[in-house]
Amino acid sequence: MELGNKRPATVEVQVKAVYFLGDRKLEVRDVPDPNPGPGEVILEIKASGMCGSDLKYYRAADGADSIGLGKKSDKPIIAGHEPCGVVAAVGKGVWGPLAKVGMRVMNHHYAGCGCCHQCRGGWTQMCDEGSVTFGANGDGAHAKFMKVPADSLVGLPDDLSFKSGAAISCGTGTAWGGLDRLGLRGSETIAIFGQGPVGLSGTQLATAMGARVIALDIDPGRLQRAKEFGAHDLVDAKSDDVVGAIRELTGGRGADCTMDCTGSPTARTAAVKSARKWGRVVFLGEGGDVTIDVSNDMNRKQLSVFGSWTFSKNGQADCARFVSERKLDVDGLFTHSWPLEEAVEAYRLFDTQTAGKGLLIP
Ligand SMILES: [Zn+2]
Ligand SMILES: [Zn+2]
Repeated sequence: MELGNKRPATVEVQVKAVYFLGDRKLEVRDVPDPNPGPGEVILEIKASGMCGSDLKYYRAADGADSIGLGKKSDKPIIAGHEPCGVVAAVGKGVWGPLAKVGMRVMNHHYAGCGCCHQCRGGWTQMCDEGSVTFGANGDGAHAKFMKVPADSLVGLPDDLSFKSGAAISCGTGTAWGGLDRLGLRGSETIAIFGQGPVGLSGTQLATAMGARVIALDIDPGRLQRAKEFGAHDLVDAKSDDVVGAIRELTGGRGADCTMDCTGSPTARTAAVKSARKWGRVVFLGEGGDVTIDVSNDMNRKQLSVFGSWTFSKNGQADCARFVSERKLDVDGLFTHSWPLEEAVEAYRLFDTQTAGKGLLIP
């Protein structure tokens, strides 16, 4: 085992980690300092983002996976699934350019069998043998140290902060994945429903790709942020005729692409209805359902509707490279940052959903 600033396994040391206990209860506990097994590395977490999915687990009755990510863990797990930090220790049989003590890395926050078609393609979350999602049904990143499979490391470009790496590890990467599914072109107009951290990232990325963004949200503060992140037009999603507003902004045709980042049935329906003939729609929001008038809203329009779930390992690396090359201010997504010890207060505020994106720093 190669050790960096980690202590040898023989010394019993406790480190801090955050657990969701259910019904909005959270505890910062002392846990044994993890050591890497074969094929594993230990990350020293430098930034751990807070994501909308974390709120679902935080609010759930048993603090566990409530959106069907996989088999539920039978023990409490460490929360957090936007990990970014440096490699602190390397287990046996691990080699490769990223698995070296001191490397700045992100983590593709899933583990799979490593051998099936999906895992080999870098889509570990879709493993045919069943996957583990860190922070949902496997130990996550709200901790000083995190044990991960060596093949889940994704390089962090030198000029990107740990903060940006944490955002790319879920929220910003998810927006990237959705735009990739759409095959968005710079000549096109995209309507993005919901300007929380994922939608706002979508606005930032799509603008940088050259597209025209129509940003929608029910909150005026979030719309203002979307403007600052490059949105060309803003639509108040509380207005009576959202679809009409998008048609008006697109010469009556509808948007070339639409992206739902809310999971709300109303927004999903509007995303389908406001896409033009031959348009493309992607659903990123989790949970809930949608009712679509298939003949009128899809078939007669030759519409393509995609589902999208986060991103592959290479997709995460591509997103980081794009953010670095275009010098995008992903750090600007974060409005709050907290020491790990103050996680109770951090989640209490996050739960009100009045703040922007939050970050825990171990
Ligand atoms: Zn997430
Ligand atoms: Zn697999």
